[in-house]
Amino acid sequence: MRLGLFGGTFDPIHLGHLILAEACREACALDRLWFIVTATPPHKPTDRTPVAHRLEMARIATAGHPAFEISEIEADAASGPHYSYRTLERIAGERPGDELYFLIGADSLADLPHWREPARVARLATIVVVNRPGIDRAVACTAPDLGPGVRPFRFVEIPPIGISSTELRARVAAGRSIRYQVPRGVEAYIAEHGLYRAGAGV
Ligand code: ATP
Repeated sequence: MRLGLFGGTFDPIHLGHLILAEACREACALDRLWFIVTATPPHKPTDRTPVAHRLEMARIATAGHPAFEISEIEADAASGPHYSYRTLERIAGERPGDELYFLIGADSLADLPHWREPARVARLATIVVVNRPGIDRAVACTAPDLGPGVRPFRFVEIPPIGISSTELRARVAAGRSIRYQVPRGVEAYIAEHGLYRAGAGV
């Protein structure tokens, strides 16, 4: 099967993530798409919202989509930091018949050459890049030179979505609205559990 892999901290998951995922599913004719919620990404601070909350919000956001699933392959904080090439090697080893697609936003593409073993990532999976506001179009549409053997990159265009988890956390902390930027169920979950409130220890 054609399997899409979309990793992130999803703290919280928002409509930018969901629109990206659906656009890539359609453009690449993906049979399944896993949202991989990362407990401890190598390049971000470790004081994240507990991964159990982030997983639950991702489940709420994707419920009812027949192709979307939540993967816990990077959800164990003790086994982190989680490097994408290792996750991909594991999935490729366990699912040798699958064709893998690795979804990223254009800001992640700009970082990609600084990741651990980026060429291995691009050999194991087709990297699919989606535009993001704030990232220059030329950067967003150009594959970095990662050496021989890498698969051609794919570029998928979506209406620019100026939503980020950072901005959403700041909004909640300031008592501002996040309605229509996250699914209604995620908004309710954040309120119910008091996530992201100023001074909230979750
Ligand atoms: P934060 O603000 O906490 O850094 P984020 O909103 O960038 O979070 P992540 O969970 O880090 O969300 O993102 C996972 C992936 O989704 C990354 O590859 C990122 O580039 C992509 N992405 C997130 N938001 C958007 C968006 N609005 N448009 C396009 N791509 C996005």
